[in-house]
Amino acid sequence: MNIAVIGTGYVGLVTGVCLSDLGHNVTCIDIDEKKVEKLNNGKSPIYEEGLEELLEKNLRQERLTFTTDYTRGLAQKQLVYIAVGTPQGDDGSADLTYVNAACRDIASHLENDAVIVTKSTVPVGTNEHIKETIEANLVNDVSISVASNPEFLRQGSAVHDTFRGDRIVIGSNDEEALELLEKVNAGFRLPIVKTDLRSAEMIKYASNAFLATKISFINEMANLSEKIGANIDHVAKGMGMDKRIGESFLNAGIGFGGSCFPKDTRAIISIGRNVENDMPILENVVDVNERQRSIIVDKLHKRVTDLSNKKVAVLGLSFKPNTDDMREAPSIDVTEKLLDKNAEVVAYDPVATENAKEVLSNKVHYATSIEKAVQDADVAIILTEWKEIKNFPLHEYKARMKEALVFDGRNCFTLDQVKNSGVEYHSIGRPVIY
Ligand code: NAD
Repeated sequence: MNIAVIGTGYVGLVTGVCLSDLGHNVTCIDIDEKKVEKLNNGKSPIYEEGLEELLEKNLRQERLTFTTDYTRGLAQKQLVYIAVGTPQGDDGSADLTYVNAACRDIASHLENDAVIVTKSTVPVGTNEHIKETIEANLVNDVSISVASNPEFLRQGSAVHDTFRGDRIVIGSNDEEALELLEKVNAGFRLPIVKTDLRSAEMIKYASNAFLATKISFINEMANLSEKIGANIDHVAKGMGMDKRIGESFLNAGIGFGGSCFPKDTRAIISIGRNVENDMPILENVVDVNERQRSIIVDKLHKRVTDLSNKKVAVLGLSFKPNTDDMREAPSIDVTEKLLDKNAEVVAYDPVATENAKEVLSNKVHYATSIEKAVQDADVAIILTEWKEIKNFPLHEYKARMKEALVFDGRNCFTLDQVKNSGVEYHSIGRPVIY
């Protein structure tokens, strides 16, 4: 099938590359010339395991190409995916500026009938708005239908999730569009949920809101466990073995970040507000998450009352492991709070350093290894559970730091691992180990 994908971010690029790998002819369109040039040279602008190999392979086999030219990109495409960003607007709602721009660009350049498929996470009703906007601006005599195909990939395992996800959701009020999308996705061999437009849009928000709720819930349990002498690792294990609860997303820590959970939970609250439907559970999910980021710094401050000129090694900056994405990463708030207390912050991340430099204060220093970050540090704080950080031997903290004082915001080590290591270890929802 001939497919265009608009937007080559985490979602658009992975979608385009994976669809081409199934044998479809794919042209990805982006307004960012540098990105497009890089991609045509086989270089991925984002870090995702396995992506660059698939990109090179499908470029070589001439099934995949990148352009900034909408006329070329849309020529003879039966399906046009919209995968541009929908960031959070000032009032918490999704900002549709990029979606609207993409619609106008489609309308001005589309020369044949096509199904417009929205991958971007958009408020319920947006696909109808997309149809109206494109139809109102069409330059040529062509007809379109619309479908919603929300994306569930996780950054850090995006390629794996595209081929091995739990389900594909396709929604449309047009039977032919649904059939076409079913055919396009058949190669993934995943269960397909077919529904109407609005339900498909709602499935995406409801899924993310539920996962965010699970995280805030376990964090609330962790905070209580700590105060009453329970261990959240054991609590979560005991809960998760109940199949009705499930073991995933029960890792206590400093809360969720990234480009999806924070904005999507706020967006669904805003969708509710627009129809005078309160969302008290989700309001609290957001509050608990925001508070959770301060907890690690508050603990540290309680233990080391004067942080001025103390060297604090911050380990992990990206919002989660295996990605270079810094959007809404808890490290942004945490480093800010540490700098406010006049600490000297030396940070290390295996891949997110360049992106971090763009969003963190220029007072933050960067180390090129964990060893260098913790060398002669007064305190270490773990903010992202990278494998490298989880595998860093505890005795190295003891050997290198002025005082082996570790605050772990991601519970990277079991308490048994820490006992007798000589490290003073503070984590989330578990007793302190001295
Ligand atoms: P992103 O910001 O990484 O990428 C968006 C891309 O769109 C950029 O490359 C930008 O240059 C391009 N773009 C903007 N306007 C354009 C236009 N008019 N024409 C062509 N290209 C244009 O965004 P992302 O993280 O890939 O997210 C895209 C959407 O998918 C969002 O709605 C997001 O909520 C949703 N989503 C993201 C994830 C994720 O893990 N990142 C997962 C599921 C869903």
